Amino acid sequence: MSYIVGIDLGTTNSLCAVFLGDAPRLVPNPLGKMLTPSVVGVLEDGQVLVGEAARELRVTQPERCASCFKRLMGSDSRVELAGRAFTAPELSSLVLKALKTDAEKFLGEEVPEAVITVPAYFNDTQRKATKMAGELAGLKVRRIINEPTAAALTYGFHDRDAEKKLIVVDLGGGTFDVTLMEVFEGTLEIISTSGESFLGGEDFTNRLMAIILQKQGTQLEVAELQEPLRVARLRQLCEEAKRKLLGEPEVQVKLPTADGTVPDDAKTVKITRDAFAKAVKPLLDRVAAPIGKALRDGRTEAAEVNDVILVGGATRMLPLQEFVREYFEQEPQALFNPDEVVCLGAAVQAALIADNRAVDDMVMTDVCPFTLGVDSAKELGGQLRSGYFVPIIHRNTTIPVSKEEVFSTIRPNQEIVQLDVYQGENRKVENNLKIGDLQVTGVPPGPAGQEIYVRFTYDVNGILEVEAYMANTDKKFRTVVTQHAADLTDTELEEAVKNLQSLKYYPREDMANQNLLRFAERMVGEVSPFQREQFEAAIDMFEQALGSGDRQTVEDARDTLAQVLSMLGIDPEEALGDQSDG
Ligand code: ADP
Ligand code: MG
Repeated sequence: MSYIVGIDLGTTNSLCAVFLGDAPRLVPNPLGKMLTPSVVGVLEDGQVLVGEAARELRVTQPERCASCFKRLMGSDSRVELAGRAFTAPELSSLVLKALKTDAEKFLGEEVPEAVITVPAYFNDTQRKATKMAGELAGLKVRRIINEPTAAALTYGFHDRDAEKKLIVVDLGGGTFDVTLMEVFEGTLEIISTSGESFLGGEDFTNRLMAIILQKQGTQLEVAELQEPLRVARLRQLCEEAKRKLLGEPEVQVKLPTADGTVPDDAKTVKITRDAFAKAVKPLLDRVAAPIGKALRDGRTEAAEVNDVILVGGATRMLPLQEFVREYFEQEPQALFNPDEVVCLGAAVQAALIADNRAVDDMVMTDVCPFTLGVDSAKELGGQLRSGYFVPIIHRNTTIPVSKEEVFSTIRPNQEIVQLDVYQGENRKVENNLKIGDLQVTGVPPGPAGQEIYVRFTYDVNGILEVEAYMANTDKKFRTVVTQHAADLTDTELEEAVKNLQSLKYYPREDMANQNLLRFAERMVGEVSPFQREQFEAAIDMFEQALGSGDRQTVEDARDTLAQVLSMLGIDPEEALGDQSDG
C-alpha cells in the first residue's frame, strides 16, 4: 500500500499526519515535535535548513532565513535569501520536502502522495501555487482541501453520531477562516465559509511590538527598516510575552539594543492583559466580520450554533476567546489540540480518498468558498458599459456544481465573444481576480443579441471547467481552469526546478544538532560577558565537531556544550527537543 499523507502547510508551523489503522496519527520531526516551524534557512555553505534550526538562525541571521512566505503564495514576489531569490512555492516546497522526509522515516517507506490544506479563502492562483509547491517537493497532490473543512473532518470523524451545527473559528499565524457546518449521521455538510487572508496571530504580535515601540517614540514600520536586528529580537520577545499573558496578569518585555542583543540592564516595558486587550481591539473587530458573513450566508443565528470550535494557535489568546465567548454566548470547545486538528483532518481526507474502510460510513460535502463568474457589459441608462462581474456560481454553493447562464452578442455581426473568467465578490471585474479566459470564435453573422450559453462546472478538487456554445450551432468551446501545476507556464516550473536543483539539503537526521548550535549562538548575547569566552569555546568546538562528521566527536562536543549551557542556567532540552521518536 502506498501512503497518502495529510499536510497542514501553515504560515507559522506545518504538520504531517497519516491514517494508520483506524485513526489519523501525527508524524514527528527529527526533534520529536509534531509542529515544524515553516522557516527556511540557508547556511554559509549553501545547505538548507527547515524548521526549528532555521527559526533559531532567523534571530541571529535574519538575512539567511525566510518565514511567513505562505502570505506570498500566488503573488509574483520573491524573497531574497542569502543572496538568492526564491518564490513562495519554492520555499514552501522545501518545507514540504522536509515533512515528506520525516514521514518516510516514520513509516519506513516512500510517501508519494499528499492531501494539502489551504485557507478556505485562498483563491485559484494561491491554490495553484500550493499545488506547485507539492509537486516541486516530489509529491503528487491528490487533493487541496480547505483548512476549516479539514478541522471539521477531525471533529466529524470523532463525533460521527452527533446531530448538530458547528462553527469552526481558525486563527492561525497569518490567516483567519470561519466555517459553519452541520453534522448528522456521519454526514458532514459544510454550509458556508468565510475569512480573511491577511489576519492572524502575527498581527497580534505586531500590535504588541507597536505599542512597545510607541512608548519609545518609534513606529514599528520605521524601526523595521532602520533597526532590523532590534525588531527581529523584539518580535521574538513579544511572541513570548503574548504567550505568557495566558498565565500571568502582566509581563515585562525587555527592550533589545540596535544589534539585537538584550543586555542585563535592558530597559523593560510592562504590558498588562488589559493593555494587550485594548491594543488588539481593532483586530478583533476584523474577526467579527467574517463570522457574521458565514452566519448570514448560512442563514443561521449565532444562538443556533451548538458548538464553537477553536482552531489555530492564535485562538489560545485570551482576548480572542473572550470575544468568541461573548459573540456566541457559550464556552468555545477545544477537544483537539488547536495546532493539530487541521492536519489530522487532512489525514482523514486522505483515508476517504484511499477508500479506507475505517471511514466508509462517512460522507462530506464542501462548498465553493468564493463567487465565480464572467466579465460582461451592462446596459445602464441606454449606454453599454463594460467591466461588470456577472456571477455564475455563487459563493457557498455546495460542490460539485454545474450552472449555466445565457449571454448575448452586443454588436451586429460580432464574430468573437471573449469570456474572461473571474473570482471575487465585487460587482466590477477590476476588483476581482481573473482566473482564466475563453474565446468563442466564428459566431455566425446576424443582429446583436445572439444567445451564447456559458456553463461553469466546479468539482470537489476545485477545478473549474468553463464551456460555451451557441444555441443554433453544435460548436462547443471549452476551457479548464485547474489547480494543476502543469497549468502554470512550463518556463515557470522549469525555472523553479532549476532554482531548487542547486540546493543542498542539510540532513534531517542531524537537525537536532544544528538546532542546538543555532540555539547556543542565539544565547551568546544573553550570557554575562565574563562567561562568554568559555561559552563560545564550547560552541566553536561543537561547530567544528559537526564539520568533522565523526559521530563520537559530535557526541562529546554536544555533551560538553549541553553541560556549559546547564551551568549558565540555560536548559539545553529546549533546543534538543524530545528525540525519543526520531
Ligand atoms: P498557521 O496555521 O498559520 O501556521 P498556527 O495555527 O500554528 O498558524 O498558529 C500560529 C499562531 O498562533 C502564531 O501567531 C502564534 O503566535 C500563535 N500562538 C501559538 N501559541 C500561542 C499561545 N500560547 N498564545 C498566543 N498565541 C499563540
Ligand atoms: Mg493553520
